[in-house]
Amino acid sequence: MTREADCLFCKIIERKIPSVVVFENERVLGIKDIHPQAPTHYLFMPKRHIAGVHEATGDGIVESLILAANHMARETRVVEGGYRLVINCKNDGGQTVDHLHLHLLGGRKMTWPPG
Ligand code: 5GP
Ligand code: ZN
Repeated sequence: MTREADCLFCKIIERKIPSVVVFENERVLGIKDIHPQAPTHYLFMPKRHIAGVHEATGDGIVESLILAANHMARETRVVEGGYRLVINCKNDGGQTVDHLHLHLLGGRKMTWPPG
């Protein structure tokens, strides 16, 4: 697996930094967000380092993140009321960790437009 030595999420994937893991398969890790913005707030990330969604290569990794999030939306039953999937990209998009990740937010009514 490609790792970036100074990447927070690579360290979480390698279990060098603790996290609450909620999902794992060959390509994807899902964890609880440390600062949840909704009753259910999980992050799904590729195990291989990709800086952001702008670097997606068409190998299906983004779909793998969505399928993992959908699985957990069913498991947590937020699928019943609905949920939001978010990928922030770079500075203007609000990305703060430069390792591609998909947010699953659910358990409350979301507002629009986002801030
Ligand atoms: P972004 O702003 O890049 O889209 O999302 C980064 C997310 O990572 C934020 O929601 C933030 O709360 C979460 N986060 C930052 N550091 C950690 C950490 O050490 N552990 C976990 N579980 N989440 C983190
Ligand atoms: Zn990384």
